[in-house]
Amino acid sequence: MFRCLAGETIQKVGEEVLLQGWINTRRDHGKIMFLDLRDRSGIVQLVVSGSGLERPEGLTPSAEDVIEVVGLIKERPASMVNPKLETGTVEVEVKKLTILSKAKELPFPIDTDGYDLDEEIRLKYRYLDLRRARLNNNIRLRSKFVQLIRSFLFRNNFIEIETPHLSQSTPEGSRDFLVPSRLQAGKFYALPQSPQQYKQLLMVAGFERYFQIAKCFRDEDLRSDRGFEHTQIDIEMSFVEREDVMRILEEMMIEVFEAMGEKIKQKPFPVLTYQEAIQRFGSDKFDLRSEEEKKGNVKAFAWVVDFPFFEKDKIDKWTFTHNPFSNPKKEFTSDLLAKRNIDKILTSQYDLICNGFEVGGGSIRSHDPKVLQSVFEIMSYGKSEIIKKFGHMLKAFTYGAPPHGGCAFGVERLMMIIAREKYLREVVAFPQTSGGKTSVMDAPSEVAEDQLQELGIRLVNET
Ligand code: ASP
Repeated sequence: MFRCLAGETIQKVGEEVLLQGWINTRRDHGKIMFLDLRDRSGIVQLVVSGSGLERPEGLTPSAEDVIEVVGLIKERPASMVNPKLETGTVEVEVKKLTILSKAKELPFPIDTDGYDLDEEIRLKYRYLDLRRARLNNNIRLRSKFVQLIRSFLFRNNFIEIETPHLSQSTPEGSRDFLVPSRLQAGKFYALPQSPQQYKQLLMVAGFERYFQIAKCFRDEDLRSDRGFEHTQIDIEMSFVEREDVMRILEEMMIEVFEAMGEKIKQKPFPVLTYQEAIQRFGSDKFDLRSEEEKKGNVKAFAWVVDFPFFEKDKIDKWTFTHNPFSNPKKEFTSDLLAKRNIDKILTSQYDLICNGFEVGGGSIRSHDPKVLQSVFEIMSYGKSEIIKKFGHMLKAFTYGAPPHGGCAFGVERLMMIIAREKYLREVVAFPQTSGGKTSVMDAPSEVAEDQLQELGIRLVNET
């Protein structure tokens, strides 16, 4: 017998079917027992009576058991219809019920939104927390979102290419996660803060339109909307100018958001310069919605452009504001090469904001090795350091590099906006705690002495 899903039962009235799933709830009235069966498609009510109720001690079905039933789908009498349930017009008269796996009492309720529960316990039992309808829904929404993104990009002739996780440090303004090398003890890989350099190399390789749903790792202090790892929609295109990239990205966001049922405040998206944004809102992450629109869940996108390329860091040295691989705006190229009027140089960077959050950003890149070299010199990198860290990029650009540009969008930030969640952990299947511990498994954790030895590592502060 083929498995029938709970959600399909309304089309199969009068049929005997096989259902498998979890017991969502049990209401036992002695002579008759109602079980709500939950599977990936929804919920349907089972009615167990007569011989179906007779079962050995300890085998009474209870909430969260995994069961299999064979039963007859019946229309419910009008007075028994449950309008709150999608399958509320039918119920299944159980002929045979088998418990496939018993469930212990869960450590917390899963029929609530779960916001009031302690984070540690939710993440320790994340596989149960994910049974919660709200979270289940968020994870499904995320999958749909990524599918829509992929569909848009494939249709527009982008190709999906994976880039390595074990790599060399690349500057994105964050601390790296390091991975010790066993074969070359004393040396380290860095997990990518973004695929920035690889995607640019893919442009040199001639792919012209790349994308990747890329995992990025940044060892930053954690916040409600920032984790150690995040996923970004990473895009790069060749033979484009700033407006070309912005146009296609905007088209993608509109198509995907509207397909998700979202309402967008203004199309095309307004474009503000950084200076205008600061003057009008005191911030480059502003919210254009009225109170009314906030209540109506309208999404207000806007572009911010013309950021300063450089700013002074804590020790009064020049550093990049967004991305060292960016081109300056054309009219500032000579200043950049001459390293003059540094504070006035504007970058080709464009940031996309939505409802007060920065959801993505990118730029046209420098594909002229002289420009890139000058950027690093302005940031006080020595010649040998530049060669050591970025020599491969400078070299690649000497073999025929197309003008190119791209961007990255944060999947979690976008999902928080779509799912109306305040915390990153609500849109990630297995997030970390605010203290940086993993869900379910206990990482970071100590490792065996022989593992350390193999890596040539000795811990200094052993307790
Ligand atoms: N690599 C940048 C980031 O991860 C985005 C980009 O410029 O494409 O923030």
